[in-house]
Amino acid sequence: MLAPTVDTNILSVAFRDRSLCTRGGTCVGICPTGAIQIGDDQYPVLDSEKCTSCGKCGRACPGGEVNYHELTQSTFGDIPPANDFDGHVEKSFTAYAENPTMRSGGAGGGVVTALLHDMLKHGDVDGCIVTRMRADKPWLGEPFIARNTTDLLLSQGSRYSVIPLNAIFREIRSSVGRFAIAALPCQVHGYRKAIEEDSVLRERIVVVIGLFCGGALEPYVVEELLQTKGIRLGDIQDFQFRGGSWPGKMRAVMRNNEIRDLHHSNYKDGAYNYFTGMYMAKRCQTCIDGSCEFSDLSISDVWTRDSNGDYKFTAHSRVLCRTALGISVATRAAERGTLKIREVTGDTDHQTHRFQTRRKGLNAPLRVARWARSGIPVPLYDRPTPEATVKERCTEYAVSSCLRATQFHSIRYPLMRFLTSQYAKPLIQLRMWRKKRKYRRNAIRRLRPT
Ligand SMILES: Cc1cc2nc3c(=O)[nH]c(=O)nc-3n(C[C@H](O)[C@H](O)[C@H](O)COP(=O)(O)OP(=O)(O)OC[C@H]3O[C@@H](n4cnc5c(N)ncnc54)[C@H](O)[C@@H]3O)c2cc1C
Repeated sequence: MLAPTVDTNILSVAFRDRSLCTRGGTCVGICPTGAIQIGDDQYPVLDSEKCTSCGKCGRACPGGEVNYHELTQSTFGDIPPANDFDGHVEKSFTAYAENPTMRSGGAGGGVVTALLHDMLKHGDVDGCIVTRMRADKPWLGEPFIARNTTDLLLSQGSRYSVIPLNAIFREIRSSVGRFAIAALPCQVHGYRKAIEEDSVLRERIVVVIGLFCGGALEPYVVEELLQTKGIRLGDIQDFQFRGGSWPGKMRAVMRNNEIRDLHHSNYKDGAYNYFTGMYMAKRCQTCIDGSCEFSDLSISDVWTRDSNGDYKFTAHSRVLCRTALGISVATRAAERGTLKIREVTGDTDHQTHRFQTRRKGLNAPLRVARWARSGIPVPLYDRPTPEATVKERCTEYAVSSCLRATQFHSIRYPLMRFLTSQYAKPLIQLRMWRKKRKYRRNAIRRLRPT
C-alpha cells in the first residue's frame, strides 16, 4: 500500500529537522522499498510515491535520540552504562599493521584495515563495510563492500567528511554472508538501532570496529579547499585527507597524477584542528560519543608526545577492546601475524588525552545543555551534563561562536584561504612552539621532588 502523503513524524529525523540528521545513511539502508536515496549534500531524499509509511527509518534513526542505557544493554548486556569518555573497555593495546603497505597507507597504524584483512583472509567474514572517495565525484565519500585485499587498500585512511556509511545496509540485506563494519560513533548508533528493526542485518553484520571521532566535516570542505588553491573539481581524480607519510596531509591527486599538498604542516596541526572549528557538521556539534562506545573494539590515533613535545608513536593506532569478540578479533590478528600489538591496559601514558576528550566529552554536552535551554533542537541523551568550570564554559561558548560565525561563506572562505596559505605558517609554528614548551614544562614538573 503506497502512501503519497507521508506523516514526517514517523520518518527519520532529517525529514523534520535537518540539523539533527547525522547523515549516517541508516534510513536509506533500512528502507524496505528503496524510497530513500542520498542527495549530493549527503542528506537523505524521500520519494513519497515509494514510501509505505512502515516507520522503520524513524525507529532506526540515531539523529534525534541516543539512549545510552539501551545501547549499553544491547552491546554489553547487563552492565551499568559507563560515564566517562572512553566508555566500557576490557583491554587496550597500541598496535600497527605488520604489512608495510597497510601501515604506511593507514590513517594511524593501518590497524582497521589489517583487522578487516585478517578476518577476510581467514574466512571469518565474507566482506567488510568501508568507505572510499567516489570515482565520479572524488570530492565526496561513499560506502562500499570490500571483498578482497585490493578493495581494502582502496578504503585505507580517514575521510574526515560526512559519509552515509549505513546506506550500504540495503546491499547487505540482499547479499549472502557475514560482514564486518568499520564505522564512526553515529554510524554505530544507527547500526545498533537498525539491528533491532531488521534481524537480517543482525545476522549478517557480525563485527563492529569503531573509529574515535572528534567530528566529521561538511562535505563542501573539499570543494572550498580546492577552490582556495585554484583547483577545479574536474581536475582531480582523488582527494586524500591524510595522504603521504604519517600523520599525513590533505592532498589532491590531479588527473595527470601530480599530487598537490593543500596546506602547510601536517593534517592535524595544519588543517583538521582548524577545520573542526569552521566546518564541523551541525549534528556532530551535538554528538557526545567521541570514542565509539558501542563497538566491539574502538581504534584511535596515538597522539602521545614525549617531553620535547614530539610524537612518541608514529604510525601506531590505539585499540580499545570492549567485548569478548573485540578481544578475540585483535588477539587472533596478532597471533596470525597480521598485527603487532602491545598491551597497555591501565597504562596512564596511553589514556585518551585531554584535548581529545574536551571536544566531545565536555564541549559537546555543555553545548547540548545550553542549546536545549535556549530552545534550539538537540538530540536527547540519557547522560548527565558534566560539571564544568567557568573557564570551560567560556571555552565551549567561544568554540560554538566560531562555528556559528563560520556558517557564513564570507567569513569561512577567507579564513580557510589564510589558514592554509604560507602566511599562516608563523601562526602554526607559534602554536607548535607553545605546545612543545608545555610538554617540556610538564616533564620538568614531573621530575621535581614533591
Ligand atoms: C571523521 C573522523 C574523525 C575522527 N576523529 C578522530 C579523533 O578525534 N581522534 C582519534 O584518535 N581518531 C579519530 N578518527 C579516527 C582516526 O582518524 C583513524 O581512522 C583511526 O585511528 C584508524 O586508523 P587506522 O590507521 O587503524 O585505519 P585505516 O587502516 O587507515 O582504516 C581507516 C578506516 O576508516 C574508514 N573510514 C574513513 N573515513 C570514514 C568515514 N568518514 N566514515 C566511516 N568510515 C570511515 C575507512 O573505510 C577504513 O576502513 C577519526 C576518523 C574519522 C573518519
